[in-house]
Amino acid sequence: MTVIKWLIHEWESLCEAGAVNKGGTSQPAAVTRRGFLLGASCVLCSAASAALGYRIGTARERETARRLTSDGFLGTASPTKTNTQRRRVQPNALFRVPTDKPYVALTFDDGPDVRYTSTVLDLLADRKVTATFFMIGVNALANPELARRAVSEGHTAGNHTYDHRELELLRPPAIEVEIEKGQTAFRRIGLDGPPWFRPPKGYTDHAVGVLADADRYRTIFWDVAVEHYIDHQPIAQGVDQLLAEVRPGSIILAHDGGHVVGVKDRPILSRARTVEALPLLLDGLAKRGFEAMSVDALLLRTS
Ligand SMILES: [Zn+2]
Repeated sequence: MTVIKWLIHEWESLCEAGAVNKGGTSQPAAVTRRGFLLGASCVLCSAASAALGYRIGTARERETARRLTSDGFLGTASPTKTNTQRRRVQPNALFRVPTDKPYVALTFDDGPDVRYTSTVLDLLADRKVTATFFMIGVNALANPELARRAVSEGHTAGNHTYDHRELELLRPPAIEVEIEKGQTAFRRIGLDGPPWFRPPKGYTDHAVGVLADADRYRTIFWDVAVEHYIDHQPIAQGVDQLLAEVRPGSIILAHDGGHVVGVKDRPILSRARTVEALPLLLDGLAKRGFEAMSVDALLLRTS
């Protein structure tokens, strides 16, 4: 199996580099990764990857991709606010890991933020819990020490775009820039580009899904959102309700950031309530027998 994977990787690399086209002949003109996917030219690697469970794209997705290469714009008419809507346009995304084991993933969005992230890291360290931090590129560039601290303490990072634009409002080239600049931000502060992606606010559409897949990202959504429970009622009461909704394999969304660095015209949110709720959440999960961890660890422990 390892050899097969290697062969597929090599073939994909050739395709991505534009060295091989459908006929297997030399093709010196530059072909981007997106061009490779959108062209759907590598029949062999699609088939082999599908056999290994790694989807390059269904016929429907390839048709969507072809339409994206024209001047058509396939943005959704309204934001995807529910997982049913998100699943319809990004069926490859992960919302929850199917398992009976008492493991859940903990994820934090919108950091790093000097007001909250270090406290969140302290609380996690106290309980020896890891999490996945979906960082905004400009925030990581502004607070590189916090981003590096998270990774050095065993947490994993995810790409939450460069500056948190609502991707479903953008045309495909601008979506691609947002994702790739988010990735570049990690490299600029000395971190590896993460394999995980989460679109801002969970707003997505076919174009976002196709472009994230083309960049080899796994899109991670969530099935339980902390702020939904705690922002409009007493925190302890909200955490109790939240804990009642947590199931094995749940992916829990929380926020360790409240604004986008350098962007003045967007609302600044306080995440003080999230920080206050976090010890109750972590201790409540443990009391109910759940072990919280990063998305990576959840996938590994349940595979
Ligand atoms: Zn966000």
